[in-house]
Amino acid sequence: MSRRASAVPLKGMKMKLSNYYVPTLKEAPKDADNLSAKLMIRAGLIRKLGSGLYEWLPLGLKVLKKVENIVREEMDRAGACEVWLPVVQPKELWQETGRWEHFGDQLLKIEDRKKAEFCVSPTAEEVITDLARKDISSYKQLPVCLYQFGTKFRDEIRPRFGVMRAREFYMKDAYSFCATDEQATDWYQRMYDAYTRVFTRCGFKFKAVEADTGAIGGNFSHEFMVLADNGEDAIADCPACGYAANTEKAAVKAPAFTINEADFKPMEKRPTPKAYTVEDVAKMLNVGTDKLIKLLVFTADGEPVVALVRGDHELNEPKLRALLKCTELEKASEEVYTQVTGSPVGFAGPQGLKARNPKIKIFADNYVKGVVNGVAGGNETDVHVINVNPSRDIEVDAYCDLKIASEGDCCAKCGAKFNFTRGIEVGHIFKLGTKYSAAMKAEFLDEKQKANPFIMGCYGIGISRVVAAAIEQSHDDNGIIWPEPIAPFDVSLIAIDYDTNPEVKKAADELCAKLEAAGLSVLMDERDERPGVKFKDADLMGLPHRIVISSRTVKDGQFEYKRRADKDAVRKDLSAADAFVAELKK
Ligand code: ATP
Ligand code: MG
Repeated sequence: MSRRASAVPLKGMKMKLSNYYVPTLKEAPKDADNLSAKLMIRAGLIRKLGSGLYEWLPLGLKVLKKVENIVREEMDRAGACEVWLPVVQPKELWQETGRWEHFGDQLLKIEDRKKAEFCVSPTAEEVITDLARKDISSYKQLPVCLYQFGTKFRDEIRPRFGVMRAREFYMKDAYSFCATDEQATDWYQRMYDAYTRVFTRCGFKFKAVEADTGAIGGNFSHEFMVLADNGEDAIADCPACGYAANTEKAAVKAPAFTINEADFKPMEKRPTPKAYTVEDVAKMLNVGTDKLIKLLVFTADGEPVVALVRGDHELNEPKLRALLKCTELEKASEEVYTQVTGSPVGFAGPQGLKARNPKIKIFADNYVKGVVNGVAGGNETDVHVINVNPSRDIEVDAYCDLKIASEGDCCAKCGAKFNFTRGIEVGHIFKLGTKYSAAMKAEFLDEKQKANPFIMGCYGIGISRVVAAAIEQSHDDNGIIWPEPIAPFDVSLIAIDYDTNPEVKKAADELCAKLEAAGLSVLMDERDERPGVKFKDADLMGLPHRIVISSRTVKDGQFEYKRRADKDAVRKDLSAADAFVAELKK
């Protein structure tokens, strides 16, 4: 490249649609299963290769890269350093933490020609911890935070919603290594602040909520949720004290029940043939589902345990896992269920269970305490028992908060009623502690020359999911409405009669040059297509600003302007283009 050419600043950018690869579609394919997936495919951002596997086309990739750049700037601003780690990772490292087994079927395992085993990275704690232990030996080298952008693979059970829950996806993952708790807390806060800046800069309505720490483990975590009606996650949000959490985590305060033992009736058996669900049983016995007591059997690290929740509530497995401090919690097999309860599957009741099986641990959700003359399994096929009263009939190890927060529940912190909203998890930050460093003996010497494991944190952003989340939050019936900071181009310039009317061509090229010079990128639709087709495509692609230049407008020395989000277009004078461009740039 000549010196002159390289000296020309590449500010805005013009692309002519006839030369660009944007295969838009009138209809979304049948298997596109949510709004953003439909729009991303129709607008020519992505194509599907196979289940959970997507190709990113130029327009989509531009958005992805814009998000990536915002994230990179904010990671750098926070003081993290970018690295690039292998996506193929040796089994031995994953065995050191036990996750070769525990990560489960989401981990894609592969073999090389020598039959050595590897996985395709679903996350990178093992590799980064190995890197740190090779290079960091002293507290003087700490704290440090490393991050990367890269492909992750998780063999999700049910890939869905396009790139939102894909198997192969694009993530930013960061990991902090610290010598002290203060440093670890400081890095957590720095990342929390960096994430807040990232999602603010992307133009999102979002919320940081307390989260369960899941399979990654650790002891403290926040999820960043883009608020959207169709979000996969439910958020409980306290209007009084500001506590907000994923409903998987939200701590619930149970009401104070006043129970009058004089109301208790004697237990009686009732036949409930072919009543297989809570609803079936409630209907057959003519009671509300809130009268039922559900009994669930789990194995916690191999030990059976019984949990009770009210019929209209859902058990929250992460809460039970946290209570039991176990790593693996699974629904018990039919065999274990029958052994533990002495009852056919689906018909176990908790009344008298401790007497029959003194060793079994039974935990009940707080709400179960308030059930009066309730219904429970009858410990025989097709039989239930009515008038079960927990304080009289059920012996438990403890009553605790075990339910998924739902409508009507109150905040455990202040007692006010929760609001419920939906969101899409785009980022997740964890304080990990020494879970990985201790397992992998990744240690440094402190001031007293004593060896300690690194105190770690990990911080992810699903870059590809962010793109879909932006669309879920911002669209209308006609297509995408990109937030300006992540739009693939700033301006959609529709030139009608571009090839047939020299005045249109001149006006469009000149205005385009002015926009470019001001640093605005332009996608010019000069195709020989009907105006209706061009307008439809522009709406679908959703660039923030739309300009139309046609024989009709140039005849009046004008062009037409509309923001994508606005309804009506306004006429502007071509002679006042400079002022218009300056205004747009603001
Ligand atoms: P989820 O709860 O949605 O399954 P996760 O908690 O397993 O996600 P993390 O391990 O916290 O995910 O990963 C960090 C980020 O990567 C998530 O916040 C999310 O934005 C993104 N992500 C996770 N799984 C997927 C996926 N299957 N497809 C696209 N993005 C994903
Ligand atoms: Mg997560």
